[in-house]
Amino acid sequence: MEREEMEVDVLFVGGGPAGLSGAIHLARLAKEHEELQDLTIVVLEKGAHVGAHGISGAVMNPIAARELLPDYQCPDHGCEIDQDSFVYFTQGGQFKVPLTPPSLSNHGYHILSLSKFLKTLESEAESLGVDIFPGFAGADFLIEDGRVAGVITGDMGLDKSGSPKPNHQPGMLLRARVTVLCEGVRGSLTKKLKEQFGLSSDCAAENYALGIKEIWKTSSPTHRPGTVLHTLGFPLQQCNARGGGFIYHMPDGLVSVGLVTRLDYEDPLLNPHTEFQRYKTHPYLKELLTGGELIDYGAKAIAEGGFHAIPKLTVPGAMICGEAGGLLNVFKLKGIHYAMKSGMLAAETLCEALAQGDVSHEALLPYETKIRESYIGREMYQTRNVHHALSSKLPWAFLRLGFQMITGGRDLFGSRLNGHEDHTTYKTIQEVHGASVTLEDRETFAYDKSLTFERMDDLFVSGTLHEENQPVHLLVHDSDICVSKCKEEYGYPCTHFCPAQVYEMVEAEDGETRLQINASNCLHCKTCDIADPYLNITWALPEGSGGPKYSWT
Ligand code: SF4
Repeated sequence: MEREEMEVDVLFVGGGPAGLSGAIHLARLAKEHEELQDLTIVVLEKGAHVGAHGISGAVMNPIAARELLPDYQCPDHGCEIDQDSFVYFTQGGQFKVPLTPPSLSNHGYHILSLSKFLKTLESEAESLGVDIFPGFAGADFLIEDGRVAGVITGDMGLDKSGSPKPNHQPGMLLRARVTVLCEGVRGSLTKKLKEQFGLSSDCAAENYALGIKEIWKTSSPTHRPGTVLHTLGFPLQQCNARGGGFIYHMPDGLVSVGLVTRLDYEDPLLNPHTEFQRYKTHPYLKELLTGGELIDYGAKAIAEGGFHAIPKLTVPGAMICGEAGGLLNVFKLKGIHYAMKSGMLAAETLCEALAQGDVSHEALLPYETKIRESYIGREMYQTRNVHHALSSKLPWAFLRLGFQMITGGRDLFGSRLNGHEDHTTYKTIQEVHGASVTLEDRETFAYDKSLTFERMDDLFVSGTLHEENQPVHLLVHDSDICVSKCKEEYGYPCTHFCPAQVYEMVEAEDGETRLQINASNCLHCKTCDIADPYLNITWALPEGSGGPKYSWT
């Protein structure tokens, strides 16, 4: 197949905070070196435009933004946090968690829309001569002599069966001296790289959570911009799952509300989206949101494995930044500033290497040390066992957390805890719900369509769209497992955990039950790649530009 080819010096795969910050910082540093005046820097972004797939809480610690953009101010659409509490929700009430540690404070941080903030970074990168290609993503690597030599972008114009349509365009081959993977959580190229080079062989289990959020416009008198609440308890406590909620009050009557459910829950029938809807029935949220309007919806997995789950971040010809490399403060669930800082540290390493004319693996290795010696490494080390402490029931979890804070991260059970991968923690439906349960027995949640919505209603406001006539990008390796084993053992968890209702069990014309994949609904959250009990699903790259079109997340 004839492919268009392009040669670049540095290729950033992913136009999120890591990729754009890395590209900006490198472009600026290069201007200080005579030999790097003609450096070509390219950023690939799989969304239809920069920011289309940008989703986070989003409360941002501005430390990295101030370093990258000396004139940085909290954007007009956002605000600075001046009221911050950590609250325990019971079903009908709430109380403030006593002795909230100062390290959990968000005072002075910025509530913003990540997708809008990314547009600012895009403008800055373009003004420095960085080429940004939206609608393109890395589908595969070019490996030459054991070294990553660039990436091949996804083909456009293939039909459902993989045959070329009249508009077929083979993916482009981008040869790069160095490729920097900034794909975000569970990036598909990063996953391949980790497997191919064994980057996680010495690591603890990678653990994840699923964050689901909505943006609302409200005129409630209880709305107060600059206020942030993080909550524990209802509704996840009631279903024996772990995680918590967040409520961020923004200017112009906007509210960001979300629920983060750890993916190590036991009940295979748990539906994180339904629990999120239940969360909004709490009196605090009911009062805040009733009469308001839902304006955006999104979901993403969150890397919660922590310090000991960080893979090796360099291979010959490539580096990994941001949440693709598991860089996230698990205690605070903050990752934007780590993504930005890691992109900048990659840029500094690259600038030194390029100026010396040496981009060997040895020349990229200092990036690993820079990460560990920066605030990313220091904070992640201090909180290395937080995920495990929070696996315990309350108040035992608080005791363990307290011990970790006093000892600089050591847990009551040791200094390095490994845990289990999330897909191994399900119990069977009989173990959770009793031997006589049937899937039809399940309690159904009553959505009122004004405060609480079904997945398809939520999906509508996310603007999610894919070309329908293209190969399904959710690869189910053995569909027999769904009906032969999964039904009996786990009751099809993918039909419950997917926040976009992509997976449905339907009755075919021959009367057999089969799995239907509504791939066009996919929000690219990556949960199915992580949480299927048999690891039977792989998230692959759809045609470029497809997916959500976030504007406020
Ligand atoms: Fe997330 Fe997978 Fe559902 Fe897409 S199909 S929204 S990646 S769980």
